[in-house]
Amino acid sequence: MGNHVWNDKKKFIWLLSILLLVAFLVTSGISYKVAHDSLSQQIEGNTLPLTSDNIYSEIQQDLLRPIFISSLMAQDTFVRDWTLNREQDPDKLIRYLKEIQDKYGTITSFFVSEHSRNYYHSTGILKKIQDVEVNDAWYFRVRSLPPTEPFEVNIDADTADRSKTTVFVNYKVFDFDGNFIGVTGVGLAVEKVKALIELYQERYNRRVFFTDRQGNITLRGDEYQGADSLQNTPGLDQLATRILTSPSAAFSYQRNGKTVYLNSRLVPEFKWYLIVEQEDAPQEQALLNTFWGNLALSLVVTIGILLISNMTLGRYQRKLEIMATTDKLTGAANRQVFEEFFGQALAKGKLANTPLAVVLLDIDHFKKVNDNYGHSMGDLVLKTVSHLLRGQLRAEDVLCRWGGEEFLILLPEMDLSHAAEFAEQLRSLISQREIKVNGIHISITASIGVAELQRQESAEDLVRRADLALYQAKTAGRNQVVLNQ
Ligand code: GH3
Ligand code: MG
Ligand code: MG
Repeated sequence: MGNHVWNDKKKFIWLLSILLLVAFLVTSGISYKVAHDSLSQQIEGNTLPLTSDNIYSEIQQDLLRPIFISSLMAQDTFVRDWTLNREQDPDKLIRYLKEIQDKYGTITSFFVSEHSRNYYHSTGILKKIQDVEVNDAWYFRVRSLPPTEPFEVNIDADTADRSKTTVFVNYKVFDFDGNFIGVTGVGLAVEKVKALIELYQERYNRRVFFTDRQGNITLRGDEYQGADSLQNTPGLDQLATRILTSPSAAFSYQRNGKTVYLNSRLVPEFKWYLIVEQEDAPQEQALLNTFWGNLALSLVVTIGILLISNMTLGRYQRKLEIMATTDKLTGAANRQVFEEFFGQALAKGKLANTPLAVVLLDIDHFKKVNDNYGHSMGDLVLKTVSHLLRGQLRAEDVLCRWGGEEFLILLPEMDLSHAAEFAEQLRSLISQREIKVNGIHISITASIGVAELQRQESAEDLVRRADLALYQAKTAGRNQVVLNQ
């Protein structure tokens, strides 16, 4: 019976632990996910686009200026007149180019005439453009741009100084009738733009780079490590088409197990994509820390609850066990558990080949006590007798309240004669005991039947024989011990 309760308790504790842990895990997980999602959403929908806007407007300010200058040069009536006048007196144009370069602080300024294919530079005529020359391919590319695109922005080695990489603005020049007569423009040192990008990267702690419409990375800071195109960048290769087919996009992807948030936008002036990336938001770590903290706390709470419930259950269980096995009034074992004690004593006795005896005791004329002094006095007598009996027992003896005023004592390792002696001692003690309450003196006696366990005998038969002896003691005049031989 006890085992059953214990198993139930174990089951209950297990169930409770699992329930609590699952509940805590789910709630922590959900709150982490909600926070994480809102953070991602904020980065994707708010922070990065804002950064992109800032950078875009700064880039516009910095790069639109050379476009504007080139546009002015292309519109300049002097340049067009001079070209239409068969490019006489080149020094005039060269001085013009030098003036532009000095005034606007560009690193180069140039004009290529379609008619002569001369490359004019602020320092003189550098060369003749040739369509077989790879380095001159840019000119023919610009020349064949569709009419809707009057210029291109291009990164290239400078014709004037091939060691320098330059951002060129190449602007088409038309005569007053709209015929193509050449290409003019200025160049910015790429280092300057790179410094700009690096400044943004530092200021906003985000990676900033540009790609052309094919996905080639055209401009990036020096610290930037990685492939030279979107298609060759792990993680981005899958997304390249998505980036390159829409004017703006925002999403996140996984790179080296980390979440990277990305915002891309087309900068129409350069026909480049400005891409701003951010790896794992710094707040993400705080979220994770909170998540683990929550879990740790949950674990502590779970363990605490388990300990408390274990203790409480244990206490109730012990209480229940006592309640189930003992008589409330006298504290003696009840009839239901006698079988268990008997079984234990029998098994032990069989092993050691020792005897086993029972004593069945019934208070004489107990009904009179109730009748004369009331039920509570009867209860007091019962308590007193049980207390007296318990005082005489050895550790291995078991006292049971067998019926209303009947007690059965199980005496392991005791044969009939010793049991009879013991019974006689009990009888004598009871008869000598005077119970005094509120000036009332009550003397009682008890009749006792004794029997020793015989071979192959059941508990039931043994008690029946003791009961028989008790009956004989009653009929023989009470207050005596009778043995069942
Ligand atoms: P006998 O000498 O033949 O044993 O007579 P008796 O009066 O003791 O026997 P009987 O069996 O007629 O009466 C037992 C009485 O015990 C009847 C019942 O009311 C009383 N009794 C049983 N349990 C309790 C109890 O818990 N408290 C009290 N006060 N009385 C009880
Ligand atoms: Mg009785
Ligand atoms: Mg009686």
